[in-house]
Amino acid sequence: MLEERTCGGCTACCKTHGVAELKKPSGTICFHCDVGSGCRVYSKRPQACRTYKCSWLIGLGLLEYRPDKMGVVPDHVDIPGLGIALWLYEVKSGKLLSKFARRQTRLNLEVGNAVLHVPTVGRAKLFVPENKWDPELEFRFGDSKQKVVVIRARPEMFSEPA
Ligand code: SF4
Ligand code: SF4
Repeated sequence: MLEERTCGGCTACCKTHGVAELKKPSGTICFHCDVGSGCRVYSKRPQACRTYKCSWLIGLGLLEYRPDKMGVVPDHVDIPGLGIALWLYEVKSGKLLSKFARRQTRLNLEVGNAVLHVPTVGRAKLFVPENKWDPELEFRFGDSKQKVVVIRARPEMFSEPA
């Protein structure tokens, strides 16, 4: 049976995710956030904050992989034409290169899932597995407002150092 998970002292998505109701952009710490502790307006927090659950909170990975500890927030989002993709939002700079992020990326590519890396600075990168590759994707996402870099990816690109 899956253990009941709670955010506890994690406040990672209060930085990585935008909150339209607060006009809070993604990648900035919310002004209501007590980092590492919780939300100062918890009982009055916006609806988006009430409903959001990262993939770890709903059971992805081990208990010790809580997003604030790993430095990345995992999400699973359906991208039209690509299907369910793993999104990894970087909480701390460099964490998308960590062993944890590399392993999650590799495992998802191995089963044919696309993976989006959203760094703290710079453009997001969409890694698309061979079986879902379509040159049109470069135009579709590369022309988007966020200018996502689209990369044809193989799982071996994310092997971990011995
Ligand atoms: S990243 Fe996940 S575990 Fe952390 S506060 Fe957000 S929903 Fe909770
Ligand atoms: S309102 Fe609270 S829960 Fe929502 S982003 Fe800000 S600190 Fe986090």
